[in-house]
Amino acid sequence: MMSKKEIALTFDDGPWGETTSRILDELIARKIPATFMIWGEHVLQYPELLEKAAKSGLFAFGNHTFHHLSLLDLTAEEIKEELELTDRLVKKYTGIVPAFVRPPFGDADAEILKIIHRPIICWSLDTRSWEHHDATLVLQEIQSAQDGDIVLMHDFQEADANALPAVLDFLEAENFVFKTVPDLLGEQLDDEAYIYYSQNRRDKVGFENEKGKK
Ligand SMILES: [Zn+2]
Repeated sequence: MMSKKEIALTFDDGPWGETTSRILDELIARKIPATFMIWGEHVLQYPELLEKAAKSGLFAFGNHTFHHLSLLDLTAEEIKEELELTDRLVKKYTGIVPAFVRPPFGDADAEILKIIHRPIICWSLDTRSWEHHDATLVLQEIQSAQDGDIVLMHDFQEADANALPAVLDFLEAENFVFKTVPDLLGEQLDDEAYIYYSQNRRDKVGFENEKGKK
């Protein structure tokens, strides 16, 4: 028997209308867990999609900030506000406060980690839909998937929504088991002093000294 591999699909920038709706329908019909990185402003437009996602019980939710600006350009106060506004909205429609953050554009450093005090989730595989807008190329990127990958997709992007059925078929045929990010990372996620890229790769960029003192 072929051994099982694990993978976490993550969808950024939603909830966003028709594309999020199609992605949710596909995942829910096939009972496939995934993680949505929520853009706060968009929840104001599509709260019912976030509510629907939460009701399925299949998904985890990360904070992708309120305005989707690079955190490197913001003050500590602005960063906290970006997260708090989104926390409040996600709590309102899912009942939970996101336990981790995906920074817009993946922009993060040690300073930002200190400010947000939550693990930062980046990715090890990017479908690059935001660049090529082509469902065929999304599937091509997915074909390099490895055990433990965190995959960056966008429920904001037509190409990812269009490719999703084929992406899921391919990964299932390759013996991948789908996990949410917290399930994929397990206990290591309890340590907020890291930026996580996959099950096997994380960078310690945070406040070791402060952690040690606690
Ligand atoms: Zn984004």
